[in-house]
Amino acid sequence: MNIMAIAFAEHKPHSVLVDSDGCCEIYDVDYCKRDDTLYYHMSGCGPAYIEAAPGMREWVAEGNHVAIPAGCEMIASVDAKWLDPEMDWGIDCDTEYCEACDDWLPTDTDEPCPHIRWDEETGTWKHSGATKADGKGEA
Ligand SMILES: [Zn+2]
Repeated sequence: MNIMAIAFAEHKPHSVLVDSDGCCEIYDVDYCKRDDTLYYHMSGCGPAYIEAAPGMREWVAEGNHVAIPAGCEMIASVDAKWLDPEMDWGIDCDTEYCEACDDWLPTDTDEPCPHIRWDEETGTWKHSGATKADGKGEA
């Protein structure tokens, strides 16, 4: 595995493009505030394209041709820790966004937080509880 490109939102990876035996794998990265941990999961594979929103910063490893979305700023170098092929800076786990917590939570349990639980019947995550619109979030 080689890190081909990384898109950064703020100072944390947002998505990572990895060369795995000639196939480009794209990993989505979410930051969980509660755990102060970055969680990543493979979201697919395909062309050398990195997903990013305008305003994000992108780093591409030398010798790689990666299509960069418009409005992204290229950066020449990144902290060496992000280039770890094992991606030890994070944990391989999918996440679910909780509006009440305003956080991305790892889905390695049936109940990532008091507002989300796994519904066996439908095979989906059920959300309940207050949302930011109920006044629990920031004004
Ligand atoms: Zn929650």
